Amino acid sequence: MAHIDLRKQFGNLPPKYNFSLNPYPEERFSKCPVCQNKTGQRKLPLLIHVHPKNLIALNYTNRYCQHCDILIGQKHEIEHLLTEKFLEINPEIIGNDYLVFGTVEKQAWRENINQPKPVNEMPNHISEFKSYKNLRMTMAGWFRDGQDPPVMEPPPSKEWLKGKTQGRKNRPWQDVDSMAPCSRLLFPVSSWVPLRGCLPQISSSQEIFRFP
Ligand SMILES: [Zn+2]
Repeated sequence: MAHIDLRKQFGNLPPKYNFSLNPYPEERFSKCPVCQNKTGQRKLPLLIHVHPKNLIALNYTNRYCQHCDILIGQKHEIEHLLTEKFLEINPEIIGNDYLVFGTVEKQAWRENINQPKPVNEMPNHISEFKSYKNLRMTMAGWFRDGQDPPVMEPPPSKEWLKGKTQGRKNRPWQDVDSMAPCSRLLFPVSSWVPLRGCLPQISSSQEIFRFP
């Protein structure tokens, strides 16, 4: 697992979890994309850095595979929560680059809500991720022998966008769920060509380790 390690260590606790950001709203990963075992849920305060200087903890219910120690977050849900948060704090920030990079100890997170902790104490309650991946899936469907299923293009962000602060409060973000799932797209193929069926599977993932 080669990755470029450009970040500075931020959390003082040992790194925890392999985090994957899932950009496909219709893909819920009730099964682990790596080992196919059933996933559970794990509600944890995710630590997110939002450009340029915002650090935010979101208590979020992730999918979790115990076997692979993989935590999966839905990009659209996280962006929805981020948008709501920054509408209150600073709407200018909405749409900026962000990186989910670790978790905060639950107790410390709870205490911090009632009484904010000094900044220099924070790292004592933070674990960075062991790894971070942006999930990409290949399309399901029927393909010519030898033809690799193409990568599914994730839908663009609906809420976490620059310059759209007006009237976004009641955006029907359910729209995202009612979109036709990309995985049902079929490619026109002639009937005499040998075909093989493919289920969507992880194609590639970008491994990032960077702390802005
Ligand atoms: Zn697994």
